[in-house]
Amino acid sequence: MIEPGGYIRDIFKKPLGAQVEAHGWVKTRRDSKGIHFIQLNDGSTFQDLQVVIEDGAVPETALAAATTGASLRVSGELIPSPGAGQAVELKARDLHIFGPADPATYPLQKKGHTMEFLREIAHLRVRSNTFGAVYRVRNELSVAIHKFFQERGFLYVHTPIITTSDAEGAGAMFRVTTLDLMNLPRPVDNTADFFGRPACLAVSGQLEVEIFSLAFTNVYSFGPTFRAENSNTPRHLAEFWMIEPEMAFCDLDGNRKVAEEFLKYIIAQVLDHCQADLEFFNKRIDNTVLATLEHVASSSFEHVPYAEAVRLLEKSGRNWEFPVKWGIDLQSEHERYLTEEVFKKPVVVTDYPAEIKAFYMRLNEDGKTVRAMDVLAPRIGEIIGGSQREERHDVLAEKIRAKGLSEEDYKWYLDLRKYGSAPHSGFGLGLERMMMYLTGMKNIRDVIPFPRTPGSAEF
Ligand code: ATP
Ligand code: MN
Repeated sequence: MIEPGGYIRDIFKKPLGAQVEAHGWVKTRRDSKGIHFIQLNDGSTFQDLQVVIEDGAVPETALAAATTGASLRVSGELIPSPGAGQAVELKARDLHIFGPADPATYPLQKKGHTMEFLREIAHLRVRSNTFGAVYRVRNELSVAIHKFFQERGFLYVHTPIITTSDAEGAGAMFRVTTLDLMNLPRPVDNTADFFGRPACLAVSGQLEVEIFSLAFTNVYSFGPTFRAENSNTPRHLAEFWMIEPEMAFCDLDGNRKVAEEFLKYIIAQVLDHCQADLEFFNKRIDNTVLATLEHVASSSFEHVPYAEAVRLLEKSGRNWEFPVKWGIDLQSEHERYLTEEVFKKPVVVTDYPAEIKAFYMRLNEDGKTVRAMDVLAPRIGEIIGGSQREERHDVLAEKIRAKGLSEEDYKWYLDLRKYGSAPHSGFGLGLERMMMYLTGMKNIRDVIPFPRTPGSAEF
C-alpha cells in the first residue's frame, strides 16, 4: 500500500537529523563532481526541498532518471544546508522514480517562459513557481471567503447553473440545448428542447439568493458564472467564479460596510497564510502588491456618490476616450483614475443613474438614481458590484414594465415583494478579479486553472 505521505511543507518543520521521506516533482537538477542537487516540489509550499545525492548513495538508474519534471520518492536525513536559499536539505539514502520525464521534450524549462506559452500548457504550468503560487493563493482566498461568512452566520446556498430566467441582463448568455443543431427546424420549437423552454448558463445567482435571504436572513453563494460577452479584455472571462452575499434587513450603507469588512478580511487572511507566495509575486510580478495589500487591509475605503465622481472626472482635465457627463456608465479608464489617482485606495461609488443599472435596484427619492454601489480597486477597476434591492412591489412592477420585461416572467420575484417583503441588499465579487488584485497578475487568464475566453477553451 502507498499511503499519502508527508508534505514537503511539514518536512521543513522537522528537527535536524530527522529521517524523512518526500515525494514530488523535480523542478531543477544540478550536477557537480561526485554530488547531485535536486530541487523537489510537491505543491504544498513555495519553497523547494533541496535534495543532495552523493555518488553511490542511491541506485545509478534512479539517479539518471531524476531529471526535471520527473516524479520521485526520496528518503534520507535532514541536515543543515551550506548553500544559500534554504536552511536545511535532505541527504538522500534512497531514491525511487515513479515517472521519468524526457528532458529533451519536457516543456517546462528553467528559463522563464511567457505567460502566453504557459497558457497553452495548462496541464503543466501548474508545476511552475508562478502557477504554484497562484493556485495556493486561490485556495486560501476561497477558504477565507467561506470563513468570513460562516463566522458571521451566513447560510451557504447553491444557486442553479442552468437557468431559465433571463436573470438581470448582466451579460450575454450561453444557450443550453439538446436540439439537433445540424438539423434545426425554423422557427425553433423551444417546447421540443430538453426543458421544454429556452435555458441558459447563469450570469449571476442573485435573484435566487434573494429568495434564500428572505428566509434565512443572511446568505451567500459561491460558484461558477458564465457570460458570453465578446469582450477580449485582460479582466473578462467567459467562465468565472462569483461570490454573492445577500442580506435581509440591510440597506445600502450596511451593504457597503460589509463589502469593506469582507475585502479587508480576505486580504488579511491571505497575507497571513500565503506569505512566501505573496513575496514571490511582489518580487517577480508586481513590486507594489504587498504594500498595496497592507495599506488596503488597514485603511478605510473612500465613498463617493456617482454625481460627485462625475464632477471629479469632469474637472480632471483629462482627454477621456469615453467623454464624461452625468448619465454615462463609468468606463475602466474613469474607474482607474478615481481609485488610482484621486483616492489611491479602494473607492465605493454609489447612487448611479437608474438608466444604466439593473431593474431590481432600489429607486432613490429623486426618481433618477438607484441604490447601487460599485467597489473600485487600483489596477483592476470594478471588483464588486452590488445594490440595495427594490423591495416595494408596485415600484418594482413598474420598473419591470418600463424596462420592457415581462411581469409574467418575474412573477416569483414579484411574489417575494408581495409576501413578507423586507429591505435587503447584496453584492457580487468576482473571484478572479480579487485574485488579480492579490497577486498582481496582469491577465485574468492566469489566475483561473482553465481559462475560457472568446475563441479559446483549451482542455
Ligand atoms: P464589468 O463592467 O467589469 O464587466 P459587470 O458590471 O458586468 O462588470 P457585475 O455584473 O456587477 O459586473 O458582476 C459582479 C462582479 O463579477 C464584478 O464586479 C466583477 O468582479 C465580476 N465580473 C463580471 N464580469 C466578469 C467577467 N466577464 N469575468 C470575470 N469577472 C467578472
Ligand atoms: Mn460586464
